[in-house]
Amino acid sequence: RAKNQGKARYEIFDREMHAVAIKRLHLENDLRRAIEQQQFLVYYQPIINLSNHRLIGFEALVRWQHPTRGFISPIEFIPLAEETGLIIMIDSWVLFTACQQLATWKIKFPHYLPLKMSINLSAQDFRKINLIEEIDHILMETGLEGQELTLEITESMLIENINKTIDLLTEIKLRNLEISIDDFGTGYSSLNYLHRFPVDYLKIDSSFVSQMQEENRNYQVVSTIIDLGHHLGLAIVAEGIETGQQMRWLRELGCKFGQGYLFAQPLSAQEIEIKFLHK
Ligand code: C2E
Ligand code: MG
Ligand code: MG
Ligand code: MG
Repeated sequence: RAKNQGKARYEIFDREMHAVAIKRLHLENDLRRAIEQQQFLVYYQPIINLSNHRLIGFEALVRWQHPTRGFISPIEFIPLAEETGLIIMIDSWVLFTACQQLATWKIKFPHYLPLKMSINLSAQDFRKINLIEEIDHILMETGLEGQELTLEITESMLIENINKTIDLLTEIKLRNLEISIDDFGTGYSSLNYLHRFPVDYLKIDSSFVSQMQEENRNYQVVSTIIDLGHHLGLAIVAEGIETGQQMRWLRELGCKFGQGYLFAQPLSAQEIEIKFLHK
């Protein structure tokens, strides 16, 4: 009997695993089709200078408009895109689209210059051999200057292969692009090595910012990250600013830049033009 029960349990487990696998397979097929049929959009979230409220640029954030399921959050599909390698094609497209958009805005709204574009990269983009060629190609095609682009990478990407990463970042810096460490404080990064990477910005993860008011401990963490960044000669960007209080504290602590719902959600290019770049 015990044996039978065990078997039954196994079957339930099996069925659940099967359902998960099928769902994943569907999503993976949908993701492949999404790339072919160009179902992605890039949304743009304004990044603000906290001391004078000036718009300094945007973070490009991908959106998937699924034909039947509607908008699917990047939190849902980026991990699968990374596992399947599809992220490389998606990010290439985002990089090119966001750069073209900035080039268009430069012409259309010259009185807002300078404006910068910040783009998220995944570990696999970083490992592909033609990343530098692709950057060169995009700069040439769009006419953008390197310093108008920031690449956002994560702590885990830095430490994956330290020497190779330093070489790659050095190549990128030769083209004057800026490098930002995204979600800083949530990953594992060895503080021993941080000063060896040619990075420009630390982005404080929104999880610390959102808890600043509720928990003194998080206020201290934010303060410590800002000091650490300054000791390393880096500028600080805070993400997920939702309240005026958070903004004032961050500014007092010396955080120079910020983004969050207090200023704007990620918006379509058209909405950005209406709300932020009107003449
Ligand atoms: P991230 O790069 O840390 O981006 C910030 C996330 O915080 C975005 O979520 C943004 O919409 C959200 N956010 C902005 N302001 C606020 C706020 O005030 N409050 C709260 N609660 N959230 C805020 P999103 O767009 O869902 O993107 C999630 C993550 O997916 C990104 O985190 C990034 O890691 C990844 N991602 C998005 N687009 C791309 C892409 O094109 N390529 C790659 N490789 N990853 C991407
Ligand atoms: Mg980011
Ligand atoms: Mg982030
Ligand atoms: Mg984040």
